[in-house]
Amino acid sequence: MDKKLIYFFGEGKAEGDASDEMIKLLGNKGGQLQEMTKMGLPVPPGFTITTDVCDYYFEHGGQLPEGLIEQVRANMNRLEKVTGYEIGDFKRDPLLVSARSGAAVSMPGMMETILNIGLTDKCVDAYIERHGNKEQPKKFILDCQRRLYEMFGQNVYGIEREKFRKIFDGLKEEAGVRDYTLLTSSHLQTVITKYQQLYRENGKELPQDPFQQLIDAIKAIEESAMGEKARNYRKAEGLPEKVWTGVNIQTMVYGNENTTDCGTGVGFTRDPSTGIRDERNPYGEFLLSSQGEDVVSGSRNVFPISHMKQAVPQAYDELMKVCDILERSTGRVQDYEYTVWRGKLYMLQTRNGKLTGRANVRSSYDMVREGLIDVKDAVLRVTPTNLEQLLHKMIDYEAMKRDGVELDNIVINRGGAGVAASPGGGIGRAVFDVKAALEYKARGEPVILCRLETNPTDYPGMIVSEAVATARGGKTSHAAVVARNKGIPCAVGTGVDIDEENRRITYPNNKGETVIINEGDYISVDGNTGKILNYRAKLTQPNPDDLDLQNFLHLLYPVAKMRVYANANDSSEAARALQFGAEGIGLARTEYMFLEDKIEGENRQLAIQSWMLAEEEAIKLKALERLEQMQKRDFGEMYSVMQDKPIIIRLLDYPLHELLSGAEAHLDELSEVTKLHQEHLKRRIEDYHETNPMLGHRSVRLGITHPEIYRMQVRAILSAAKEFNNSTDRKHITLHIEIPLVCLVNEVKNMEQLVREEAEKVGFNRGGYSSKGDNRYRLGIMYELSGASFEADNLTRVSDFASFGTNDLTQTTMGWSREDGSATFLPTYVSQRIVDEDPFVTIDKDGPVAKAMAHAVLLAKVAKTDYEFGICGEHAADPASLEVCYGIGLSNVSPAPNQVPIAWLKSAQLSLTKEYGSMLSEYAAKVSTSFSKFMKTANKVVC
Ligand code: PEP
Ligand code: MG
Repeated sequence: MDKKLIYFFGEGKAEGDASDEMIKLLGNKGGQLQEMTKMGLPVPPGFTITTDVCDYYFEHGGQLPEGLIEQVRANMNRLEKVTGYEIGDFKRDPLLVSARSGAAVSMPGMMETILNIGLTDKCVDAYIERHGNKEQPKKFILDCQRRLYEMFGQNVYGIEREKFRKIFDGLKEEAGVRDYTLLTSSHLQTVITKYQQLYRENGKELPQDPFQQLIDAIKAIEESAMGEKARNYRKAEGLPEKVWTGVNIQTMVYGNENTTDCGTGVGFTRDPSTGIRDERNPYGEFLLSSQGEDVVSGSRNVFPISHMKQAVPQAYDELMKVCDILERSTGRVQDYEYTVWRGKLYMLQTRNGKLTGRANVRSSYDMVREGLIDVKDAVLRVTPTNLEQLLHKMIDYEAMKRDGVELDNIVINRGGAGVAASPGGGIGRAVFDVKAALEYKARGEPVILCRLETNPTDYPGMIVSEAVATARGGKTSHAAVVARNKGIPCAVGTGVDIDEENRRITYPNNKGETVIINEGDYISVDGNTGKILNYRAKLTQPNPDDLDLQNFLHLLYPVAKMRVYANANDSSEAARALQFGAEGIGLARTEYMFLEDKIEGENRQLAIQSWMLAEEEAIKLKALERLEQMQKRDFGEMYSVMQDKPIIIRLLDYPLHELLSGAEAHLDELSEVTKLHQEHLKRRIEDYHETNPMLGHRSVRLGITHPEIYRMQVRAILSAAKEFNNSTDRKHITLHIEIPLVCLVNEVKNMEQLVREEAEKVGFNRGGYSSKGDNRYRLGIMYELSGASFEADNLTRVSDFASFGTNDLTQTTMGWSREDGSATFLPTYVSQRIVDEDPFVTIDKDGPVAKAMAHAVLLAKVAKTDYEFGICGEHAADPASLEVCYGIGLSNVSPAPNQVPIAWLKSAQLSLTKEYGSMLSEYAAKVSTSFSKFMKTANKVVC
């Protein structure tokens, strides 16, 4: 291989950097180490072996490329010169190095690390002798050696980690200590002797040639890129099958040398759960006398970074400065690792922090305010999933109170134990390993994975869980990091007796009695408090007033070209929609006003059903009058909430027979009101039955066959609006009345006349906006039939606005039943790639529904340039479908209230990156090309 295979960094100079290209070549860790060195930050010198070497290694059956060993040797010589230490030197302190993996895409904990490489038995003995056999230095060097045995044994020879752990934990138990720093040098010597024995049992020994150790370690790191752990992780994350790692060889610095001014730590420049930057209490942990993984392993009590202030004040101040520099240069929250050796700070790693949705939202907003990034950066880096996490479900403590459940009786981890690791609440059956998690999940049961601590092999179980709970670990433990990433609620460090072997949790309740929770029992986990509850809680809906959400939404509003309304059917839904940032109501479905009582005893069902079933005109009329009063009140309440914001009210859309559902159950009441015999009523109900109601007697057709019901609705809508407008001098309502499921111009004309006649009676005029003493309404139509798209030019001339009802439009364009059609054949359609996605979830940008929409908008814009279209089908919350909406230039989109923020985000992102209405121009160009081709062909035929 002629290429440069190794990039050196040290003494403020580096051969690589953190550009995208270099990260690809050196891996993220390598690129960042090089960049930090260039920035003059305190990084132990070293070199990075490129990812090309890893590629070569796998393409050539585990061979390192020719010349690599020589290049490693040359770079080790360079390192020796820079550091003044030499590898294998036993007369003085030897140069030891670490070998650490790092691919371009971060795969935390999935590949391997080996520390203290170069430490031969001879070096250890000489070191002890040089230090006069004193306890502290002896302990230190033996600790380095036992770590080398562990990591080398596991990663180079594949000896199980558990075997080392058993020996080490066994000795700690024998010595009666939990914290390994309390072990004596003779304990450590015993551990090493046992490790050597373990090596021998596996037919191995630690090479005593330090360079051989290094080459073996490099190969082991390369190998780990295709290890089972890493492959499984990539599969689960949807990453490419092959991801090559760089190998970073770096001079060791020793956080384990003593217990006074040496230690290691990890941290984030802002809290990865909340996004808050707290200068007095920075997010992260520090552990005196420690090395490598100690901080995150959960095996010792760690301290907040702020403890460094007392122990190693200079290093602390420098660390704070470094955090600042890193954020300013990357514009991202950084996740870093560091070591303090003899009171001096060394940076070992930095990378973009994996944040919860909330933290990404909050930190992006704050960084704009602090001038670190611009609005575009902030908007583009937040994903719809981030926002969804922020709109998390939470444990409903109020409901518990209402149910008389005392928290103290159900909390398992009492006495303040439990770390809030990932926000949100989860409820499910307790399971104790991955296998059980997957089995329960396959049966459709929600699960909560409970472990002592997790490691990468638990990953498949974690991601199917409603929540994760561990006995050990802190905020940066494996469980915490993975759960936060995934938006899975998580409590760690709960201190609970999680018995993985016997699959149960045992805990003393507040009366001191022992309680057992077995596998399969329901529990709840609160990721916001770190508590596990022996209770099947309820979950609350998210809080729209959340300040982080609101602040971020205010970045989106000025940017988003496509405005966001919401579907809301009553005043409380309307209020929620406004809180989530909706600028109007894109669809108020009035069906529910016929069926759901707002006040006890209204019996709206009886009213609508008696109107349908009665034969006497007077009874029918009375029923409609009752309904009109109720609907007028409902509309009045909605107007009070919405004021002058647009409200699109759709007239009754249900198939008639659905309004009769449940009628059989109260025939006696119906009989009394309608004065008809029950048998007769049954026959009348039967008469309303339709084989295909969704394509039957519903919507505008109902308005034409039974105009009295539509007239009643229009009266209720307008008279409530008149009252509202009369009651105010300022915010007047301009009504938007919408007719569902239209196809024919004559249907709209018929409706136009009906609405106009009613409007004239109450003094409303069509078009424009209402003002004091001038009440206005607009008449709109829904596009739910592709037939309507062909008629769009004509339909536009008789209406003022339109909205795509893509639930029905998908159903009718594709002929797939929205109720049950796709469940039977969709899996086959997807597996055979006939469609990529369920069209009821995502509008295919090249598919027939998108074309039906584009066609309608095109014809409409030709007829009236300022004619506005919206969308109110479920697709209005689907990011991929919103691209179609933006592409064809819709004015507004209307999802459910809780989904409004997602639609704002997507609309703003598209506005910053894509041309509004571009799909429409493309569609127009295609149509006109076809047209001119046709004209040419037709001319030939004519000639
Ligand atoms: C639609 O069809 O997309 C629509 C919004 O109407 P509904 O779902 O009420 O039929
Ligand atoms: Mg519909």
